[in-house]
Amino acid sequence: MLIESLSEQFLQDAEDIREDIHRHPELGYEEERTASLVSRLLEEAGLDQVRSGVGGTGVVGLLRGAKRGRTVALRADMDALPILEQTGLPYASENEGVMHACGHDGHVAVLLSVARLLADRRQSLPGDVKFIFQPAEEGGGGGRRMMQEGALDDPHADAIFALHGYSGVEPGQIALSPTPTAAMLGFRMEIKGRGGHGSMPNTTVDPIMIGSEIVVAAQTVVSRETHPARPAVISFCAFQAGTKENIIPPEATLLGTIRAVEMDVLYELRAGLERIATGVAETLRGSVTIEDIGVPYPPVKNDPELLELVRRVGTELLGRQNVVEMGEQRMGAEDFAFFLAEQGGVPGIFFRVGVRSDENLHTAQFDFGSEALEPAILMMANVANEFLAGRAAGE
Ligand SMILES: [Zn+2]
Ligand SMILES: [Zn+2]
Repeated sequence: MLIESLSEQFLQDAEDIREDIHRHPELGYEEERTASLVSRLLEEAGLDQVRSGVGGTGVVGLLRGAKRGRTVALRADMDALPILEQTGLPYASENEGVMHACGHDGHVAVLLSVARLLADRRQSLPGDVKFIFQPAEEGGGGGRRMMQEGALDDPHADAIFALHGYSGVEPGQIALSPTPTAAMLGFRMEIKGRGGHGSMPNTTVDPIMIGSEIVVAAQTVVSRETHPARPAVISFCAFQAGTKENIIPPEATLLGTIRAVEMDVLYELRAGLERIATGVAETLRGSVTIEDIGVPYPPVKNDPELLELVRRVGTELLGRQNVVEMGEQRMGAEDFAFFLAEQGGVPGIFFRVGVRSDENLHTAQFDFGSEALEPAILMMANVANEFLAGRAAGE
């Protein structure tokens, strides 16, 4: 039996929690206030165990059902972004320059609400539920750290689920994909030349010229070296050089990101980038070093059987027309990937829930909104319950 609706009071509480978190956003690994709010509410909900300080500021709560069974993990990310909020909302950020522009305030409020909901129903809960609140999703690799510090162990989780707000579908809809996010690696290039007067280019080795040729030539790694049917992206996102209109600087820095759906393609892009950058720099009499920024994020690959479970719960709960298949491959990355089986974790699912917003994620106008809360809470709670009950697709 699915849980099909929530009381008005319960929903009001969920909204209050989200607005409180939205008002007090914190950057990756600085989620002190958010984490203590999470710990407090999990304890108030009567969870059997609440561990804080897992992977920095992460929190893991454990709810034991009255019936013995498997363990399912549910994960939310807690961090905000360095953006000056311009929503004009009554609960807009009070932490200037920091904002919940990726909707993680919604994710936390949803997961806390699921904990409260399932704790109230623990008598009929056929197993255990682990609630994982991770820090630093936005590039800090908080998921990886939580994994290394045993977030999925003791008791060992059998599966893990996570959701993300998505303005591409409406509130009350979900969007599914077998590979919802891509593999990603950031890079930094330091180009060395020889500086000099702008009027005497012949006496210099111009790092801006070298950088420009690298940016252009690197695109051939995607267009000429990668199989056309295998998604690949190389984007240069920062080009830093120089101080004045008549000085050729001695060096330049390029920052960028590479994306692919398969790790082997990601590594091919990385190797191609280095080969071309080195060759171009040498040809033009300069030199370049290239280094990775952080570690590569693997792609999120959803478990096919669990994806059917989410599809079935979505269809029964929201209606068939509200379970949308993501068409084009998305090239965003998610460190939820570190919790999954291919990285030594467990089978899992990452799905998207519709939010009402004309604005994109990571903009100063984005807001997760309140309409998305009820369907998201019900999806998570029912998916956890159905997984524990062992009801797979079509049963
Ligand atoms: Zn984000
Ligand atoms: Zn996000």
